[in-house]
Amino acid sequence: MNAFVPGRHVLQTPGPTNLPERVLRAMDRNAINHRGPEFGRLGLSVIGKLRPVFGTEGLVGIYPSSGTGAWEAAFANTLREGERILISRTGQFAHLWEEMARRFGLDVVALETDWRRGADPAAIGEMLAEDREHRIKAVCVVHSETSTSCLSDIGAVRAAIDAAAHPALLMVDAISSLGCIAYRHDAWRVDVTVAGSQKGLMTPPGLAFTAVSEKALAAARAGGARRSYWDWEPLVRANETGFFPYTPAINLLWALEAALEQLAEEGLDAVYARHQRYAEATRRAAAGWGLELQCQDPAAYAPGVTAIRVPEGHSADRLRAVILERFDMSLGNGLGRVEDRVFRIGHMGDLGVLQLTGALTGVEMGLAAAGIPRQPGGVLAAMRFLTQAS
Ligand code: PLP
Repeated sequence: MNAFVPGRHVLQTPGPTNLPERVLRAMDRNAINHRGPEFGRLGLSVIGKLRPVFGTEGLVGIYPSSGTGAWEAAFANTLREGERILISRTGQFAHLWEEMARRFGLDVVALETDWRRGADPAAIGEMLAEDREHRIKAVCVVHSETSTSCLSDIGAVRAAIDAAAHPALLMVDAISSLGCIAYRHDAWRVDVTVAGSQKGLMTPPGLAFTAVSEKALAAARAGGARRSYWDWEPLVRANETGFFPYTPAINLLWALEAALEQLAEEGLDAVYARHQRYAEATRRAAAGWGLELQCQDPAAYAPGVTAIRVPEGHSADRLRAVILERFDMSLGNGLGRVEDRVFRIGHMGDLGVLQLTGALTGVEMGLAAAGIPRQPGGVLAAMRFLTQAS
């Protein structure tokens, strides 16, 4: 077998996503003194540029970690062992967040879903209304469940919490939604939002972000678990000075700054509209192939990723392996309960129309090569839609 593969590898996973040229260039330089003035300016610049993406004017923190670190910070800062949280089991990432809560010794109340829709605000509201002693301290929701490609309605969850007049903190995992769809940390009165660099924000993996409300900060100051590295107080100071108490991921922050500049240049509304177009085109391709979407609620279709089911008796992992070997494209795999049942097409971040149609072509060719029963015409349907919509 010839080891050389010509052309560019096609990275169509729902994170990490493709890195814009300017992001690659921005990182390609010597490090600087992270205690010097140039760094302070960089720190303040990226925090300031992240705020509109989060929809907040408040505290935005950055950790040199994957998104999981910011999950941990959310729990460590606000909750003590034995305290109760409510979490909606929307998919694999909600499951992993729940597992983390259990490792923290939290008392978890979980709302089941079939992994084919978003969190149910009415069910959350009912649980909270029944909790007259206010033992539930936090409601945790994954905004875009990357494993199922279902989006939860955070505004509706907030309304349900308000209707129950419940004081629980609202914690949202926006790891695969931030930068793909309008996010309103302040308007939805989210208390803790958690995100990461490697998806809609088009930056290499390695940075976690968090937006924290005054209420959550007050809860952290009054309680929470023992913590050191994950403590929010240094983030509060970083919002004032731009400096961090440890060596920050300097070159990744340059990358982030370039990515945020690109988002601002395209315009956030245009970025979000593009994600909706690509998601719709991908769904039309799936419909054209006669394949079922994992998400069964059209109101909950995720903007940045589409999970597609393979017919019974067929292997999504084999399909992905064939596509990787034959056409040099990486797709997302099925996780947890949907392992081998779905493949996921990432369409978030820095992506042009023809990159998307190219990726869909790779899937159509892969379906044929892997012998998966399908109808022809998926790519054509996507192309027709994109010709009119782009
Ligand atoms: N939550 C969601 C919704 C995700 O998509 C991911 C990663 O794919 C994570 C959490 C975990 O983030 P990380 O891998 O950056 O720790």
